[in-house]
Amino acid sequence: MTDAPTTTVTRFAPSPSGELHLGNARTALFNYLLAKRSGGRFLLRIEDTDAERSKPEYTAQLKADLQWLGLPWDGEIVEQSRRGAVYAEAFAKLEQAGRVYPCYCTPLEIEVSRKTQLAAGRPPRYAGTCRNLDAHQRASRLAEGRKPTLRFRVPEGGRVEFVDLVHGEQVFDCADIGDFIVQRADGSAAFFFSNVIDDALTGVTTVLRGEDHLSNTPRQLLLAMALELKAPTYGHLSLITSADGSPLSKRFGAKSLRQLRESGYLPIALNNHLFRLGHSSELHGLQSLEALATAFDTSHLVRSPARFDPVQLEVWQRDAVHRLSPDAALEWMKPHLPSSLAPEAAREFVAVTQANVVLPAEIEPWLAVAFGEVPPPDAEGAALMSAAGPEFFAAAAAAVRANGTDWKAITQAVRDATGRKGPELFKPLRYALTGQGHGPELAPLLKLMGAPRALQRLERLAAA
Ligand code: GLU
Ligand code: ZN
Repeated sequence: MTDAPTTTVTRFAPSPSGELHLGNARTALFNYLLAKRSGGRFLLRIEDTDAERSKPEYTAQLKADLQWLGLPWDGEIVEQSRRGAVYAEAFAKLEQAGRVYPCYCTPLEIEVSRKTQLAAGRPPRYAGTCRNLDAHQRASRLAEGRKPTLRFRVPEGGRVEFVDLVHGEQVFDCADIGDFIVQRADGSAAFFFSNVIDDALTGVTTVLRGEDHLSNTPRQLLLAMALELKAPTYGHLSLITSADGSPLSKRFGAKSLRQLRESGYLPIALNNHLFRLGHSSELHGLQSLEALATAFDTSHLVRSPARFDPVQLEVWQRDAVHRLSPDAALEWMKPHLPSSLAPEAAREFVAVTQANVVLPAEIEPWLAVAFGEVPPPDAEGAALMSAAGPEFFAAAAAAVRANGTDWKAITQAVRDATGRKGPELFKPLRYALTGQGHGPELAPLLKLMGAPRALQRLERLAAA
């Protein structure tokens, strides 16, 4: 079956030369949402023609990342490293048409030429050194042992024009585009080339990708024209920066998706934050991917840099954690729960603490409160407890002895015995039992720690 001409086909086309980061995740998400909002297809292509930089473990990793994010791709994965024959055919076509020529310049020669142009205040581009070599000159360079790349002969006059979904009308003078490499010295297809060919051959209609590729687009459009291929519509997404405007590669933003997953970030929280990075939206609250897809609109993509704010992400994460089912919350905390904890106690512990943590590692102090030693209080807590005095805690200990873990009865008894109420009553008790001024509800937490542990904590203060 072939796609109807109006079906939107998007793709995510990572190069497996490292782990995916938040910027990659946003690109994948936006392409996924754009396809899904209209019942289209979202493809996955692995851009691994650069054998030196591509690693199979990164390919495996990025597939796992996409699955974890909830962005499954449609159909077969296209692996560029297996498509040499397709590219060879396209090279031959360009060669026959005289649109490419071998370039024998060494990386050093190219580098020197670049520097010279920059020093002269000109934008660096390929100087055309090998553009008009005759057969004899080519042979002699080959005989020197030089391994040629293949360059595309950019037309000398004219312009490349296109409309970018984010940046609007774009006009590039061909005179400003140097002849560029389409085939590396090792015979492999260069990025511009395999990228535009595969978009056309897999029927991709729309490409959303990072702004860093905007200046590559005219070259890709020239190639598409030379190969008589239909190029997709492009939208170049604004850069993501840190909250202070510095590059995202610093601090939090430098974390890979694997690291975020391992520290317990939930995909729905990440997706909700990424949805709003460089894409304005009226949509409020934590939304499902379906709802995000419905609301996604390329006319809402913004040009200004998008700020990634860990604080904002935490808001989504907190909300996402609240919504976990008891089973999912247990699964989420599991890596941090002691393996010897009885299943029933684990369930109760999860129910009591779920609303109070953003990441599973944050359960550690509550594990100590429930099943171990109470952590030492901060200065405020120490002051509050000493102001309450030993008689207060003696009354509290007596109340536990009389009422077990019935929190309501205990507080009633302490109020009657001491005349304290409100925060005067609850704050010192909370500090005594948990070492902290805030935290989960005390009634179920007290049940979890049990009367003997609570009694010990109170008696210690009663004797002080
Ligand atoms: N492999 C390229 C990258 O990861 C793909 C660019 C594109 O989406 O066209 O930057
Ligand atoms: Zn050259």
